[in-house]
Amino acid sequence: MPYGAGHPVLSGLPPEELAVLLTPLPGYRAKQVFSWISRGVRTFDDMTDLPLPLRAELGGRFALYSGEVSAELRDPDGTIKLRITLHDGYCVEAVLLTDREGRRTACLSTQAGCPMGCVFCKTGALGFRRNLDSAEIVSQFFRLREIAGDIANIVFMGMGEPLLNLGELRRAAAALTCGGGTGFSPRRITVSTCGIVPGIRDLAEHGPRLRLALSLTTADGELRRRLMPATNANPLPALKEALRRYQDLAGQRITLETVLLGDVNTRPQDAEALAEFARGLNVVVNLIPWNPVEGMRFEGRLLREPGAGEIARMDSQLKKLGLNVTRRFKKGQRIGGACGQLGTLGDGETAKPDGGPYR
Ligand code: SAH
Ligand code: SF4
Repeated sequence: MPYGAGHPVLSGLPPEELAVLLTPLPGYRAKQVFSWISRGVRTFDDMTDLPLPLRAELGGRFALYSGEVSAELRDPDGTIKLRITLHDGYCVEAVLLTDREGRRTACLSTQAGCPMGCVFCKTGALGFRRNLDSAEIVSQFFRLREIAGDIANIVFMGMGEPLLNLGELRRAAAALTCGGGTGFSPRRITVSTCGIVPGIRDLAEHGPRLRLALSLTTADGELRRRLMPATNANPLPALKEALRRYQDLAGQRITLETVLLGDVNTRPQDAEALAEFARGLNVVVNLIPWNPVEGMRFEGRLLREPGAGEIARMDSQLKKLGLNVTRRFKKGQRIGGACGQLGTLGDGETAKPDGGPYR
């Protein structure tokens, strides 16, 4: 029963925790089990170097993965979105993106819903349900890999705010980066945050030193509070200080994700404020044209995609101000799998906060 509820799930456990859970089995057995899980076996029976009675015993006591894939959507551009139903009925989504060189990136969720309520984000509109545990996070990766093959990068940019679920994020990262398992390099794992200062500081001090992306959206503090109301507790100066600390300790370039909202944050002064915020940091600005979510409003006005001219103007102005700029190309829009669209079933049906298909 690989996906059964009610049994402890093994896939999200770092090896030390797995060894403790499997006591009194000797350590080398725990290592074997860990290695099999990392290779993506579907059942305990596939763990062919374990004695048959042990496979049966483990199968009776534990589950391998969390949740069931309840929908698989494929965009003609190669993007795949999985909807995974968890044991208590909540759903999360995981997305697989393939770049032009054929490298695959898994975009994983860390919470069911999100408490931050950013006005431009579908997940934010759902509200918060609960944190995912490490097994529920790591299982998304295994599901995607089973369908798509090798995965080069992991980004925690799915549903939810990863730094509000730091304990489980850490356990998931430990399980994924451990040698003897998938052995992912921390440099190929990116955490995207809306800017939780204590979380950034905690990661900086105690690791793991993953790549960091900040969803800045705008460096105009007043506008930011209106677009991302729950970031109020983490004002921009404190955020910048935390990024500097992260950079000092982790020594990595940080990505500033900037969702471009037509006519909202694409003014010349927005580019200037961004350049001011970036001063003294080693950053790359990632421009993300807003992916449409029907009916989303900002202070009564319907949000709209930025025009091509608007995007090009921001791009060139930021470059003139000396910033490194990249643009994110649309992927997975047709299946509701692009940034900020998670929470849709892909057929236009909206997941509702109470009742409805979300639960
Ligand atoms: N909560 C984290 C990670 C998930 S959101 C965070 O906010 O960083 C992942 C990214 O999607 C963020 O950069 C967010 O700004 C962006 N995003 C949200 N809604 C979007 C939309 N409708 N179109 C494009 N990007 C969006
Ligand atoms: Fe949450 Fe990120 Fe969406 Fe904001 S952008 S509501 S933090 S998932």
